[in-house]
Amino acid sequence: MKYYECLSCGRTYSINEFREDRFCRACGKYLQERLDKDPFEKIWNRILLYEGEKFHLIHGEEFTYEINGNIIHPNRTKWNIPKSHIIRAYELVPFNGPGVISNEIMGPSYVWAILHDIRISLGEW
Ligand SMILES: [Zn+2]
Repeated sequence: MKYYECLSCGRTYSINEFREDRFCRACGKYLQERLDKDPFEKIWNRILLYEGEKFHLIHGEEFTYEINGNIIHPNRTKWNIPKSHIIRAYELVPFNGPGVISNEIMGPSYVWAILHDIRISLGEW
């Protein structure tokens, strides 16, 4: 769920309040869009649920993944992606593509594809 925050005083506003006035009522600063995210475990449960089903990389290539404990194994690559990397990427969601996380996350194309699939995001980002 989106909400809006004043970066100056920290007051928060709903989408409807933002539509009425894009500036903080208290200090007049422009409001920043924020995302109220579900706890990661909810996302992880969805990732577990779709193990073995088809996902698509940003350019459309199909892949599936297997999960062993806290490691995701996509079938098209030798990358083993630890759950901790998915958690880090989730903190950055939404991001435009794998390039944004390629320096810090293993298998960034796969991580991007999984996190931005509608079955995982449920359209929330
Ligand atoms: Zn303010």
